[in-house]
Amino acid sequence: MLVLDGKLASAAVKENLKKKTAELREKGLPAPHLAAILVGNNGASETYVASKVKNCEETGFESTLIRLPEDCTETVLLDTIQSLNQDPNIDGILVQLPLPKHISEEKVIETIDPRKDVDGFHPSNIGRLVQGLPTFIPATPYGILLMLEHFNIPTKGKHAVVIGRSNIVGRPMSILLSSNIPQGNCTVTLCHSHTPNLKEICQQADILVAALGKPEFVTPDMVKPGAVIIDVGITRVEDATAKKGFRIKGDVNYTAVSEVASAITPVPGGVGLMTIAGLLKNTLQAYLNNRG
Ligand code: NAD
Repeated sequence: MLVLDGKLASAAVKENLKKKTAELREKGLPAPHLAAILVGNNGASETYVASKVKNCEETGFESTLIRLPEDCTETVLLDTIQSLNQDPNIDGILVQLPLPKHISEEKVIETIDPRKDVDGFHPSNIGRLVQGLPTFIPATPYGILLMLEHFNIPTKGKHAVVIGRSNIVGRPMSILLSSNIPQGNCTVTLCHSHTPNLKEICQQADILVAALGKPEFVTPDMVKPGAVIIDVGITRVEDATAKKGFRIKGDVNYTAVSEVASAITPVPGGVGLMTIAGLLKNTLQAYLNNRG
């Protein structure tokens, strides 16, 4: 059984980006610059943004973190995005989700200049993805493609089952796996909360992507022997014995499913790290598109 180690795969991607950034600096050019906006004090969001900023530093990118209070108005957030859209020194903009309830995520995503939309959530970038045009692939599905590439996991002609149809993970993942790209050409079944016979469908999967946000939902009886398992889930589960009072759980029962699968991503240390690698790759691409 192969552990699809996100530390290894993301380190390889980041090493490459670091080299490219160093080459730019040697030519006297600026480094790619990511701006992240964090609204409020959600603990998980704080951790994700801090990690993105740290990874920028490690890769030689510039980063700017803009913090807005939980009660900031939608107008203030949209104005902040507009000023970043207009700033020629900013290549990529990300707004950490989820946002407080009084702010429309849809409006926020649509306000980001598609040329700086390194999370790949803007409708025009999703439209380009559906049509197989060059675009920013949403960071998590992009990270999964990079993971499959790093470990040479064959996808052509395979049956991929994706559980979850969110705009940021499940749906774009299903489109990419079915696309005519190196880590695509699968026959894809997209499952969601209204799918009957989920277990039987999962049992037919050569590649199973679990992105539903239900800790340890996928059990060995749902898995075809030899399947490749991609666990996207990240849920904080309370645990008084843990130092922080919680543990991070994926959507797959890792220990039990490892006995059946041929390859599996751990949580933590799997897809989460690859998401950051995807984000950094998109930021360099934005730099090259807009300033290159
Ligand atoms: P979401 O809540 O937006 O979507 C969940 C999807 O799962 C929905 O489409 C729903 O139909 C489906 N679903 C829910 N219960 C189901 C069930 N019992 N059977 C079948 N389908 C079911 O979630 P999301 O934003 O896509 O995130 C999913 C998980 O991935 C969460 O745990 C999230 O924290 C995690 N996540 C991880 C990363 C990463 O970098 N690793 C990035 C984004 C999200």
